Parts: sequence; structure tokens; C-alpha cells
Amino acid sequence: MKSFRCFLSFLQMIKQHCSSVYFKLQRVKLPIALRLLSALFPRHCPVCAKPVPYGTLIHAECQTVLPFIFGPTCLRCGKPVSSSAQEYCYDCRTFPKSFQKGLSLFLYNKETRPIMSAFKYHNNRRLADFFIWELFFQQYSQNYFHIYSKRYSHSHSRIYAAIESLGIDAVIPVPIHKNKYKKRGYNQAELLSRRIALIFNLSHYPDMLIRSVDTLPQKQFTPQARLNNLKKAFRFNSRYDNLVQTNASLSVLLVDDIYTSGATMEACTRILLSAGIPNVCVLSICIGMARD
Ligand SMILES: [Zn+2]
Ligand SMILES: [Zn+2]
Repeated sequence: MKSFRCFLSFLQMIKQHCSSVYFKLQRVKLPIALRLLSALFPRHCPVCAKPVPYGTLIHAECQTVLPFIFGPTCLRCGKPVSSSAQEYCYDCRTFPKSFQKGLSLFLYNKETRPIMSAFKYHNNRRLADFFIWELFFQQYSQNYFHIYSKRYSHSHSRIYAAIESLGIDAVIPVPIHKNKYKKRGYNQAELLSRRIALIFNLSHYPDMLIRSVDTLPQKQFTPQARLNNLKKAFRFNSRYDNLVQTNASLSVLLVDDIYTSGATMEACTRILLSAGIPNVCVLSICIGMARD
């Protein structure tokens, strides 16, 4: 019995060693893979769908139509608000959120809706690189091959600086149900969270939250009823109980593609908080406009 336990711990040690080497190698392998893929399969602009020059992800003129979030935003969820005198948006005032801070890149409007649809429903997984580049690097480099190299690890875009100042330890995607995963072949939020963890050298826990129910909450429900429905749809993976118990000050970044009413992020946050994680921040690519 004792020798069997020794054998198991030996296997565990090899597994841990291999995964840390693999993680370090990713920084080298990913840029090479990006170059190869880009040479074999040229990239197309997310806005006009025409091919883009090698090493870029979007045409300079198409970049200008993207609805970047700037100016005053809600202190809680990050939705743009009409004046800086307004601390919180209508949604957060009427339905307070449990996460510490929300960050988002674009407004969810007629320009970004088709891009998000291509990313989520039409297998355009390569858009993940475009979003990462826009999130952290577009002010610093025209060449997207730099995004996973150490050369640009000191970028200070608005969202990069915010993530650093929040003291995040781990990144978690909002999960999709396993039936949807089988059908789609990927979780779009996980494509983003994996890349963010890699760039910031953070832990990535793609299965910390599990979506156990596939039904969507109906729109006619009140925010409270929608939240209750959603809370039943997710659960905490007990595999991580020990990790949470031994890290009393764990801070996690919850990642999703689109934030509208915030009900999904809120439901996931409450599950993480009740599992014992004290700090949760949320990041999305697109966010809906706030009502005044
Ligand atoms: Zn274009
Ligand atoms: Zn808000």
C-alpha cells in the first residue's frame, strides 16, 4: 500500500513538473504557432472581412469604427455613464452587484454585434487573438505577433493597468453547458481567459465553475427571478475546495464575452463568494450601454 502511495506521488510530481515546463514553453510556442497559422491561413479583418496585411489583425481605417469605451464609467460594472457625477449606472443602483470591479473593452452595438456573433456561433476562434490585442496591446504595437512575447509584458493599456492594480491571482471563464461545448467545440470565454492567464502569468482554472443546467432564463422574468434561475444553472467544482480553503485572500478574474444586464456575471460571482473566494472582478469584451 505504501509503495503504491509512493508511486502515485511520483506520478503527481512528474505531472506537476511537466505542466510547469509546458506553461513556460507556451510563451515560445504560441508566437511560432501564430506566425505559421497566419502564413498558411491569412487573417481577415473583423470589421470588413477582407484580408489584412501579414502580422496585423485589423485595417487601420476599420479600427476607427470600433466603439471603444472611454470617458466616465460606472464604478462597479464599467458601463459607460453620461456624466462623471454619476457614480453607478441604473442597473447597479437598482440591482447592486457583488463583484468588486467590472472591466470591458467595447460597447455592444451594431459594429461589435456581428464580431461577437462570429466569435461565439460561427467558429471564428481566431478572434480571441484580436480581442487580446485590442485589450492590452493595440496602442503599443502594430504587430500582433508580439502579444505573447515578453517584449510587451509591460504594456500599460487602461485594462492592463487595472488588472495589475487589482492583484488578481487566477482567471476563470464563465462556463457553458457540456452539451453546448460538444456542439460548438469550444467555450469562447475560455479562449480569452486562457490567453489572459498566459499574458499575466496567472493560474487558469477553466473548470472551477460548472454550468449544470443549459436552459436560458427568460427575458420576461424580473432581474431577481433571472438571477435565481441562473444561480441554479452554475455550481462550484468541489475539486477546488482545498485550494480555496488554503488561499484565504484569493482574487479571481471572471471572464465572459458579453455583459448585458450582468445577471450571469452576478450569479457566477455569488457562487464563487459562497465557495469562499473573497474577491471577484469581472472582464468582458463587450458591454451594453447603461440606462440613465
Ligand atoms: Zn477592414
Ligand atoms: Zn454599473
